[in-house]
Amino acid sequence: MDLGLRGKTALVCAASRGLGRGCAEALAAEGVKLVIAARREALLEEAAREIRARFGVEVIPVACDITAAEGRALALAACPQPDILVTNAGGPPAGDFRNFSQADWHRALDANMLTPVELIKATIDGMIGRGFGRIINITSAAVKMPIGILGLSNGARAGLTGFVAGLAREVAPHGVTINNLLPGMFDTDRLAFLTQAQATAASLRVDEITARQLAGIPAGRFGRAGEFGAACAFLCSAHAGYITGQNLLIDGGAYPGVF
Ligand code: NAD
Repeated sequence: MDLGLRGKTALVCAASRGLGRGCAEALAAEGVKLVIAARREALLEEAAREIRARFGVEVIPVACDITAAEGRALALAACPQPDILVTNAGGPPAGDFRNFSQADWHRALDANMLTPVELIKATIDGMIGRGFGRIINITSAAVKMPIGILGLSNGARAGLTGFVAGLAREVAPHGVTINNLLPGMFDTDRLAFLTQAQATAASLRVDEITARQLAGIPAGRFGRAGEFGAACAFLCSAHAGYITGQNLLIDGGAYPGVF
């Protein structure tokens, strides 16, 4: 299926590795010009080179911390008028909420709620003016199925989800859609980090935690970044203009509810 995205421009945040990289590659495969942002310059440059070589599209890397105002300014200077915005940043640390300070909460809210809000604020009016826009926020399955040790993530992402639910309806008449993608367990560095944290907290081995995690996934495996990216690209496509304000779980069937 031609997704109708050839020649469009996307700003994809936190895209040197993992789920952001999966989204960047899937959009590149559709002929989308990319600006990709991530913190570590060498890794990001390498990602840009690989994506260019594989898909033959323009890829501009911007090394920055997207959760900082200066970082966002750099990314937006390179891509002031994206047709597609994919917001993403590293997830907050896991732990017992009794040990989280106010500074920890502010960092989590900045990274996983206020950064997407600021990026949307900077780009949405241009999308409205052009009559086309696609905004995808990478959130978490924890929005529907909160995980105890991820209190910072549960809280911050719930805030973003509420905000987006209202805004999506407001901009829908202008051809702009906003949807959230909720990853379950994907085989990325972030999952390895959380698995290690859980193993330490439970005094178990990493492979024991992995076996428990897999037992809770009907698909019997972790997700792949490419699968995640494909869902992102479809929601950004010309065919998805009537899908907005949604929270799409991609979790191999792990969430047990009907809706
Ligand atoms: P990852 O650790 O594999 O990759 C994170 C990417 O983000 C890297 O490219 C890194 O350079 C970049 N990054 C991190 N912080 C940044 C910042 N401040 N500014 C710019 N770039 C930054 O992580 P992932 O698995 O791809 O996860 C992406 C998001 O999805 C995270 O918020 C994570 O919490 C969430 N999530 C992941 C899973 C999973 O199973 N992988 C599950 C639920 C939620």
